[in-house]
Amino acid sequence: MSTFLPTDAFTGAPARPLRPCLFIDKDGTLIENVPYNIDPAKLRFMPGAGEALARLRHAGLALVIVTNQSGLARGFFTRAQLARLQEVLVRRLQDEFGVVIDDVAVCPHAPDARGRPACLCRKPAPGMLIRAARAHHLDLARSWMVGDTLDDVEAGHRAGAQGLLFDSGGETEWRRSPLREPAGVFNSWATLAEHLLAAMPADGVRPALAPTPAATVKTAGSHWPDGLTHALASVVPTLA
Ligand SMILES: [Mg+2]
Ligand SMILES: [Zn+2]
Repeated sequence: MSTFLPTDAFTGAPARPLRPCLFIDKDGTLIENVPYNIDPAKLRFMPGAGEALARLRHAGLALVIVTNQSGLARGFFTRAQLARLQEVLVRRLQDEFGVVIDDVAVCPHAPDARGRPACLCRKPAPGMLIRAARAHHLDLARSWMVGDTLDDVEAGHRAGAQGLLFDSGGETEWRRSPLREPAGVFNSWATLAEHLLAAMPADGVRPALAPTPAATVKTAGSHWPDGLTHALASVVPTLA
């Protein structure tokens, strides 16, 4: 089964297939977490990450890195420095593992004084995933978000994908809510890849998920500033 965008109403362009995607947190998931690191020489892939991504890419998954980088808003490093780090990261994945990354999405904003997102893109907000889905024709309902904190899990669920926890020690608060319950917990990239490959039919496509019950979403939304929840409602219809 495959999902297609409707024919473009303005140009009449033919429908394009939507692809499933693995959205990947960077620090503590794809690479070892060195807080606010901007030095390419300190990049260390998590064990097995490159090999796993090569298998998943081969199976037909799009790959998009989604990363909170409040160090930009805090003035710890510049956009140019971060761009240099990303360039090395993406090139090393290609050179060492043959992995092509479709996009790297960055939230440059800081959270508010209570640690909550003050923008629509900082995880646990789903803005980066939704924007990437539009840009790259991704099918969120057949996609996954993997990260080492429950904020990553929540962002995945809020985007309409499945949120998976890569348990490498990054989560310390364990604040729970229905949207923060991982659809799977993994402590190695090998087992994560096996899980995703088993969930994908031979044509690289798995059936769409049932929609998240609205009541579940509302309960979890209470953690958020009212204004932001309402703003998100216009981006994510299930929050309305
Ligand atoms: Mg992380
Ligand atoms: Zn942001």
